[in-house]
Amino acid sequence: MKQNKILLSSSNFDLDLVFQDFNSLYSYKEKFEHKLETELKEDVKVVALNSGTSAIHLALKMLNVTKDDEVICQSFTYVATAFPILYQLAKPIFIDSEKDTWNMCPIFLKKAIEDRISKGKKPKAIIVVHLYGMPAKMDEIILIGKKYNIPILEDAAEALGSKFKGLKCGTFGDYGVISFNENKIITTSSGGALICRSDEDKKRIIFLSTQAKDDTPFYNHSEIGFNYRISNILAMLGVEQMNSLEDNITYRRKNNEFYENIFTPIKGVKLLKEPNSQYYSNHWLTCIIIDSNIAGFSNEDLRLELLKENIESRHLWKPMHIQPVFIDSDYYGDHYSEELFKKGLCLPSGSNLTQNDRNRIEEVIHKLRII
Ligand SMILES: *Cc1c(COP(=O)(O)O)cnc(C)c1O
Repeated sequence: MKQNKILLSSSNFDLDLVFQDFNSLYSYKEKFEHKLETELKEDVKVVALNSGTSAIHLALKMLNVTKDDEVICQSFTYVATAFPILYQLAKPIFIDSEKDTWNMCPIFLKKAIEDRISKGKKPKAIIVVHLYGMPAKMDEIILIGKKYNIPILEDAAEALGSKFKGLKCGTFGDYGVISFNENKIITTSSGGALICRSDEDKKRIIFLSTQAKDDTPFYNHSEIGFNYRISNILAMLGVEQMNSLEDNITYRRKNNEFYENIFTPIKGVKLLKEPNSQYYSNHWLTCIIIDSNIAGFSNEDLRLELLKENIESRHLWKPMHIQPVFIDSDYYGDHYSEELFKKGLCLPSGSNLTQNDRNRIEEVIHKLRII
């Protein structure tokens, strides 16, 4: 009879006590990846990683972005979209937003590419974001990418389950990124995924995310790797969380309807809405912009009034091109994202918002209108 396996360095912290059968944990990363592949589309491949930021970094590695390369990036986003460009010692070129989806403006994208080419350098990649779950104008952006032969990386960190023309966000570009960070639509407390299009790509992403160990019986390394893989314990949470995705989208879309009903009669307040039926947002966060001259209150007034009642809200992302850390970067746009930042607010949008929570929120807004 074969005896128990003696491991190289097993821990005296007995995980078997915590998880009935610790050995069964080993396959959760693959199970999670399989669930994501099924959810997104039959023919994409997914690698689960330890964060969305790691996924963006690895995508840039896969696209061979290196020192002094230029990478086009949506300016109106969370900083995690743009930092990995700096990790590769490349140069971000920021593009402003259009008014329909608040995402990358295709007109400024085209202008930027043509200008960079005329200056002698073709951008190496385009990073487009589906911010707050709202799909970007993918038809135009894909066409521009094709025309100039520049690969597209989709930051769908906030947009799991969102669709454009029936296709899932994250599956349009050469690579796509999802985040399972604590406040995303499903969460593994921290985690992410990189979506790619072939088995070879998937193999290479796994190789890079596990310290680039060559296929030898000893530890041999011919290139630089990263420790970016997801823990099987977190992947187990992910498998479980995938069962709630559909419900969470339903709840968040209901939140959006709730706010639409509140704000429609209030002049000077505009909700971020799907421009037409081609767009399907998971409405991760419901966002508004407030023209204080018309509404009689500002985004900061509303934030503070909500806070008094112990209700959290948050300013919209501050665009990258006006962030101190990126202040020397080139930028193409008409400053619309700065207006969004100045006037905007993200409202409580959790998947577990109760009727009582909604009543409390509604009361605060009602009170502000009267003042
Ligand atoms: C959350 C987020 C990320 C990064 O994901 P992490 O898992 O937190 O690293 C990237 N881009 C956007 C737009 C995000 O909101």
